[in-house]
Amino acid sequence: MNIQENYNDIKSQLPGNVQLVAVSKTHPVSAIQEVYDLGQRVFGENKVQELTEKYPLLPKDIQWHLIGHLQTNKVKYIAEFVNTIQSVDSEKLLKEINKEAAKYNRTIKVLLQIKIAEEDSKFGLEINEAKDLFQKYLDGEFSSIEITGLMGMATFTDDENQIRKEFLVLKRVFDELNQLKTLETLSMGMSDDFPIAIDCGANSVRVGSAIFGRRDYSK
Ligand SMILES: *Cc1c(COP(=O)(O)O)cnc(C)c1O
Repeated sequence: MNIQENYNDIKSQLPGNVQLVAVSKTHPVSAIQEVYDLGQRVFGENKVQELTEKYPLLPKDIQWHLIGHLQTNKVKYIAEFVNTIQSVDSEKLLKEINKEAAKYNRTIKVLLQIKIAEEDSKFGLEINEAKDLFQKYLDGEFSSIEITGLMGMATFTDDENQIRKEFLVLKRVFDELNQLKTLETLSMGMSDDFPIAIDCGANSVRVGSAIFGRRDYSK
């Protein structure tokens, strides 16, 4: 399978209301350009340095999503151009994004990342922390960001029931917050579990290896 076949194959599996974030981390600019030329405009990277290196080399109408853990001291490097930060996992980070967005006179979209996986390794807010933070946002504390939804990652496991259970937890929180203010995006699902995520209500999926091939970290 080549990138074009992979991409068309993934697109054919997504209902029309589901956004695809093509996760291009570790893959070269040429591969991103190839997917761009097929019509894709939304790409995800998980590291600030990699994103800032790729950004100037690619078309300016790409909507870049930062999907990996973000340190507060690095927000300044992406604040001018990032479309959405999907991985907001602390109030401190939200404050920093708000501050940097204000400097550039822009509104940065963010998703609150909620920890739904059993594994300890995954970043994210506890559900109650996310609700508190959302309330502060509704109270008007952060005027240069827009919280457009939630993001979560399921446990890395073959146990489909486990994955489903975790996605449904996030969907429930999404529905709850959506009552307070309409949210656009429920981002869950990756190459191995996006069909389950869509089944559980995801309307945005983050797919990397199923499009670009396996990542080679040795290079
Ligand atoms: C790498 C990554 C993905 C994509 O993973 P694949 O299994 O390659 O599809 C999705 N979300 C996050 C947060 C990631 O870091």
